[in-house]
Amino acid sequence: MVDLATFRKEVHAWLEQNCLPEMRQPAAGDEDYCWGGRKWKFQSDAQRRWLERMAEKGWTVPDWPKEYGGAGLTKEETKVLRQEMRALGCRSPLDSFGIWMLGPALLRYGNEKQKREHLPRIARGEIRWCQGYSEPGAGSDLASLQTRAELRGDQFVVNGSKIWTSYADEADWIFCLVRTDPNAPKHEGISFLLFDMDSAGVSTKPITLISGKSPFCQVFFDDVIVPKENLVGQINQGWEIAKYLLTHERDMIGGMGSASDHRSLGEIAVNAVGEEHGVLADTMLRGQIAAFEIDAWAFRLTMERAGDMARAGQAHPAISSLLKYYGTELNKRRMELVMAASGYEALEWEGQRSRDGKVARAWLRSKANSIEGGTSEIQLNIIAKRILGLPGV
Ligand SMILES: Cc1cc2nc3c(=O)[nH]c(=O)nc-3n(C[C@H](O)[C@H](O)[C@H](O)COP(=O)(O)OP(=O)(O)OC[C@H]3O[C@@H](n4cnc5c(N)ncnc54)[C@H](O)[C@@H]3O)c2cc1C
Repeated sequence: MVDLATFRKEVHAWLEQNCLPEMRQPAAGDEDYCWGGRKWKFQSDAQRRWLERMAEKGWTVPDWPKEYGGAGLTKEETKVLRQEMRALGCRSPLDSFGIWMLGPALLRYGNEKQKREHLPRIARGEIRWCQGYSEPGAGSDLASLQTRAELRGDQFVVNGSKIWTSYADEADWIFCLVRTDPNAPKHEGISFLLFDMDSAGVSTKPITLISGKSPFCQVFFDDVIVPKENLVGQINQGWEIAKYLLTHERDMIGGMGSASDHRSLGEIAVNAVGEEHGVLADTMLRGQIAAFEIDAWAFRLTMERAGDMARAGQAHPAISSLLKYYGTELNKRRMELVMAASGYEALEWEGQRSRDGKVARAWLRSKANSIEGGTSEIQLNIIAKRILGLPGV
């Protein structure tokens, strides 16, 4: 093992050599984020090559073991890699629910066969996953879910429906919560199943978001046959896996509050409002942006501290709720300021100049941040009960 300073130098040199210039530009739109999967069409040759090079190195999932497609890096080495990528402006080679959510759950709860089958394909961006949790009537109260999986011999027969399933129509496989014992107390009759979205009996219907886009769906299961071996963990004990996966989802969503890959608010505002004596002409906006930047900086440091505590095994188990709550509220605040700072262009919904209302649509999309992955109210309930120790209602 090399020391961290040497490792940093090696990482820096490798990234300099292998991260193509196009992949060092900030993403200009959704299409610049690579999601992989059987249906994925690369936006450019550079996007494809960047993914291939990083996957070959094991750096799409640097801290996963080598046998599952990772590079087996320590937590400290992983942090160095991320710091160097940020310093050089390298884009993420692969965005994926497989990496952020399913992977950590499989590493902990999957059996060897499941790990070897699914993790390397996630790491290489070959299979895209969606999350089948929410149902009509089972969102915040997720354990009320009704989708039924009946064990018949060595296979499950799945019937029911899911809702708000992000990218279900583009995903290849689904990780899905199903009820396997309708008579048990609600948390105790749930199992965690994996299956191919191309299975007979699976269909999807897109739902349009307020932003005018349609990245999520209602999903229907009609006598879908799933081999018993696709059950993760024990039957009727999926709730524990579901909760563990949710902490990773919340960390991922909360992380958007500390994202540093977008243009600075000051830069956006100067373009629209102009400067006076070397500072932003609008004093009110200037104050709001300064206050936001201070809070965003403090949040980035809090994220980093939470990461270090997690690495040391000292993080509070409910910290992801705190980060999810603050990170998403911060991102919504940022988007309000982007609207204010962008001038009249931000009001345009269609047209070339505004790239089809990019700002307005992103602002509207941000409204969902404090709903997806568990609402802000639910996170506040968890913080009140589990972190502050207040009595439950
Ligand atoms: C953009 C987006 C993408 C999503 N992607 C996915 C996905 O890929 N897969 C998936 O499974 N789900 C997904 N979801 C669903 C998401 O997890 C749910 O919307 C969320 O958990 C809230 O559930 P609900 O919509 O049923 O609202 P409800 O649970 O009906 O809540 C309605 C309102 O009541 C409040 N409320 C409910 N219970 C309480 C309580 N006990 N105390 C205080 N207030 C309460 C809520 O905060 C909310 O304001 C997505 C949602 C969005 C918006």
